[in-house]
Amino acid sequence: MSDIIGKPNPYQVAVEQFMIAADKLNLDDGMKQILSKPKRELTVNFPVRMDDGTYRVFTGYRVQHSLTRGPAKGGIRYHQDVTLDEVRALAMWMTWKCATVGIPYGGAKGGIIVDPKQLSLAETERMTRRFAVEIAPIIGPEIDIPAPDVNTNSQTMAWIMDTISMLRGYPIPGLITGKPIALEGSLGRNEATARGLQYVVREAVKVKGMSLQGARVVVQGYGNAGAIAARLLTEDGAIIIAVSDSRGGIYNPRGLDPVGALRHKQEHGTLSGFAGSDDISNEEILELECDLLVPAALESVITGRNADRIKARMIAEAANGPTGPEADRILYKKGIMVLPDILANAGGVTVSYFEWAQNIQGYYWAEDEVNVKLERVMKRAFQDVYETATNSSVDMRTGAYMLAISRVAEVTRLRGIFP
Ligand code: NAD
Repeated sequence: MSDIIGKPNPYQVAVEQFMIAADKLNLDDGMKQILSKPKRELTVNFPVRMDDGTYRVFTGYRVQHSLTRGPAKGGIRYHQDVTLDEVRALAMWMTWKCATVGIPYGGAKGGIIVDPKQLSLAETERMTRRFAVEIAPIIGPEIDIPAPDVNTNSQTMAWIMDTISMLRGYPIPGLITGKPIALEGSLGRNEATARGLQYVVREAVKVKGMSLQGARVVVQGYGNAGAIAARLLTEDGAIIIAVSDSRGGIYNPRGLDPVGALRHKQEHGTLSGFAGSDDISNEEILELECDLLVPAALESVITGRNADRIKARMIAEAANGPTGPEADRILYKKGIMVLPDILANAGGVTVSYFEWAQNIQGYYWAEDEVNVKLERVMKRAFQDVYETATNSSVDMRTGAYMLAISRVAEVTRLRGIFP
């Protein structure tokens, strides 16, 4: 399960999660093999001119796990720790996520091994455009539609949209989502991941007999998903007691202003030093006593090593893959409800789907229309997952996987195996 430095291998985690649910569903071995392997993997090594005139070769990946239920869909990540196995896992999770919320997509993911903090804006643009050309043969509105992920944003999406459109000779907004609004992005996309999480949490607290009013919330990771989730949850009456980013966290048991904390981070490059808060480490923050823990950074932060010390009453995974299978077993025994990534953060891909649908029609929706449609999708997905989990006496992740895998398996059977 672990690589040489002891961090679980995300693809092995993804396959183990798949097998737990596939066994519950009594899937045959052939179907298990089909669904547990990525359909297509592309590795690219490509040169980029640096500002000082030298060249640097970067390695990037695009993995398409499945195109069975529709075009593949998934973000592009820039991070120094990106590996092919990480991208494989993230691609597979996208397949299950799209199936869980019932949108007509398969799963994909991409990434470049790079610490983007070391690049200038011009270098980032050249790297992004060259990467777009390298993966151009396998992306497009009908094949594979990328989106933002860790360290990529709407500007990155705009560069990719422009690059592929220049290559093909006409504007193709539907080839990527998470674009700026001026470039045919969707209203509500920026907040969609966090808003989807909020809708799911609202349903979950009802079935657990909890309330968001006065609930103490901890958020690990303070980017697009985490910072917006913190703000939205306070609108429901929750109190944010601790938040963190890659440089560490801040804590105030009486509550932190999430908007002020974000402003402080933007001004100072760190959360540390925010008025009225104490510093806290990224390990400690996960173990704080709270009602809701929102991991919103990277994979494998809750494992067999620390799951026993988690004191949250509920966990809502904004990040992809933050909790490993061993941790899941421990948390389930402790009665902690885990709202799994493929449900809790599916608001992002759902509004990406809305963006793509708007691009293809060339007809644009008002923001409240987007949010109403998102709420409908997330509420139904929560109910479907909760029912599956309750009926099969399994945790919410296994319930979500059972639902998703059975949907993908059904379409695979109906389409049959070519030739
Ligand atoms: P982002 O780049 O906007 O933010 C990531 C945040 O995590 C940053 O604040 C960073 O400082 C922090 N971080 C990095 N390493 C950390 C560490 N070791 N400890 C604590 N914090 C750390 O990225 P994002 O888009 O918010 O994505 C965060 C997670 O949410 C990822 O797992 C991503 O796959 C997932 N996700 C994002 C979306 C989306 O629409 N943005 C959708 C679904 C899932």
